[in-house]
Amino acid sequence: MAIYDPKSLRAEDFINDEEIKATLAYAEENKNNLELINQILEKARPQKTANGHVCAGLTHREASVLLACDIPEIVEKIYKIAEEIKLAFYGNRIVLFAPLYLSNYCVNGCVYCPYHYKNKHIPRKKLTQEEVKAEVIALQDMGHKRLAIESGEDPVNNPIEYILDCIKTIYSVHHKNGDIRRVNVNIAATTVENYKKLKEAGIGTYILFQETYHKESYEKLHPTGPKHNYAYHTEAMDRAMEGGIDDVGLGVLFGLELYKYEFAGLIMHAEHLEAVHGVGPHTISVPRIKKADDIDPNVFDNSISDEIFAKITACIRLAVPYTGLIISTRESEKVRSKLLKLGVSQVSGGSRTSVGGYAGYTPEERPHDTEQFDVSDQRSLDEVVRWLINNGHIPSFCTACYREGRTGDRFMSLCKSGQILNCCHPNALMTLSEYLEDYASKETKEAGYKMIEEELKKIPKDKVRQIATDNIRDIRNSNRRDFRF
Ligand code: SAM
Repeated sequence: MAIYDPKSLRAEDFINDEEIKATLAYAEENKNNLELINQILEKARPQKTANGHVCAGLTHREASVLLACDIPEIVEKIYKIAEEIKLAFYGNRIVLFAPLYLSNYCVNGCVYCPYHYKNKHIPRKKLTQEEVKAEVIALQDMGHKRLAIESGEDPVNNPIEYILDCIKTIYSVHHKNGDIRRVNVNIAATTVENYKKLKEAGIGTYILFQETYHKESYEKLHPTGPKHNYAYHTEAMDRAMEGGIDDVGLGVLFGLELYKYEFAGLIMHAEHLEAVHGVGPHTISVPRIKKADDIDPNVFDNSISDEIFAKITACIRLAVPYTGLIISTRESEKVRSKLLKLGVSQVSGGSRTSVGGYAGYTPEERPHDTEQFDVSDQRSLDEVVRWLINNGHIPSFCTACYREGRTGDRFMSLCKSGQILNCCHPNALMTLSEYLEDYASKETKEAGYKMIEEELKKIPKDKVRQIATDNIRDIRNSNRRDFRF
C-alpha cells in the first residue's frame, strides 16, 4: 500500500492519492477560516533581509486552503503577494523564449494531443539537420536566444541520438550577430543514461509536463504507448536529476482533471524534489488544453475559467516562490497581461507550434498542417517585446545563469538570498540592448532605450551600473555581444 512520503522515490508515495484527498478535504473545511488564511498569507509574504528578501513558501496543504478560498478580498491579497514575490526575487524582468518543434512522429495515444499515433490525416514530419539550421536562423533573425525543443515520442524516428544531433546543430549556428545560448528540452520521459547524454549536450532545463497527477485518469488519457506508464512518467524528474540535470521543469495540462487535485499534486511534486534532491523545480508551466487538429477541448469537462486560472497561477507563486513561472502563447494577450502581474517570470513570443513553422514564412503566414495546438497569442516577437516594455516589464534574453554554472541548488541559493536580482536586472538590460540593436522595429527600439536609460539608474551598485552602461554603449557602437554578469 502507498503511504505518503515526500522522500520516497515511488510515484504513488510522493504523489499520494490519499494525501491529496485529505488535503482537499482540509482546504474545503478551512476555506473560510480567516484566522488560518491570514496566518498562511503572512507566511507567504516576502521578508526583507540584509541581502534582499527571503520567502518561506507554502506546503501543499496551506496553498490548497488559499486556492479553495473564494473571499474576494483574500483573492486580491493573494494576487498582491504573488506580485510582491515576483518583484522581490526576479525584479521586473520577463525572460523570453520560443518553442522549436523537431518532429511530430509519435507512438503514444494521448487523447488530448493531435500527434497521437492513430491520427492518420496529419502529415508526419521530422526536421533534417539542414532544416533545423534553417529554423534556427529564422529564430535568430527574430531575436531569440533561448529555445525549448519539442518532439513526439518515437524511438525509431526520434531516438535520443536524433535529439542530440539537433541540439548540436542548434548550438553551432551563428547567423549575423545571433546565437542560441540555451536549449531547454521537452521530450518524453527517458532513462538515466539518456538524461546523462542530454546533460553532456549542454541543455538548460529538462521540461516534462505531468499532464495529470491523477493516476486513474492518467492511465485513461494515455491509453497506449510508453507514456501509459504513470510511475515511469512521474518518476522521470528523479532520473533526470540522477543523470546530472539539475534544472527541471514541471507542469500540468489544466483541463484534464479537477484543478484542485492537480494543484495539490504539483506542489507535492515540488516538495518531493526539494526533499530528495535539495532543489525544487527550476520552472513550472501552466498550459491549458487548446483546440488542435482532431482535438476538441470541450470534450474535456474539467476546463477552468480565466479567473480560476489566474488564482492557480498566483497560488503557485506563493507556494514555490523561487521557481520560474512560464506562460506560453496558448494564452491570449489579455490573459497573459493579467498573469504577468501574478508572478509569471517567463513567456514565449512569436511561437510556431508546427514542425518547420519558422523558416520560409512571413510573420503573417502560419502553417497549420503539423501544428500541435492553436496559438492564441499570434503577435510577432517584436510586438511582444514592445508590449512588455509598455507595461513596465523588461524583456530579457538573458541566458547567463546556466552558462556561469548557476544551476540547481546554486541558482536556488542565490535566488533565495535575493542575489539573482544583482545579475538578472543588468543582464536583462544588456540583452535587451542586443535585441534592440539587431532585431527591433524603430518603435520598439525607441521605447526600449527609454526603458534602459531609466532602469540603469536603478542599479544600486556603482561599479555594476558603470559596467552595464559601458557594455550597452559597446553593443550600440560595435558588434560586440554576449556580455554578462
Ligand atoms: N512528447 C513529449 C511528452 O510526451 O512529454 C513532449 C511534449 S509535447 C510536444 C508538449 C506538451 O504539449 C505536452 O506535454 C502537453 O502537455 C501539451 N499538449 C499536448 N496537446 C495539447 C493541446 N491540445 N493543447 C495544449 N497543450 C497540449
